Amino acid sequence: MTNQKKDDKIREEYKARQNRQIVAIAVVMFLMLLAAVLYKRPDLLGAFSGRTLFGLQTISISAFLGFTAYNWRCPSCDKHLGSNVHRQRCGKCGTRLQ
Ligand SMILES: [Zn+2]
Repeated sequence: MTNQKKDDKIREEYKARQNRQIVAIAVVMFLMLLAAVLYKRPDLLGAFSGRTLFGLQTISISAFLGFTAYNWRCPSCDKHLGSNVHRQRCGKCGTRLQ
């Protein structure tokens, strides 16, 4: 594989991971917002107690962190990419990501 092809593949893979990461952030934010609304408006869904909502939030955050640890890695060196979702380069190996 030529270097150019390898770079393209890394950028392609980074873009796919970035898209998955953005979707995961959107989903977890939606769940947090939903839990907050349900917590403030117990009349909407009486069955959800504060404890259930807290459990739901804990599970959402854990699932998100687990997913991030698995997904949000440099396609080249496999190191974690940190909190910035729009990285230009990998902070560890310096590979151009987009
Ligand atoms: Zn890297």
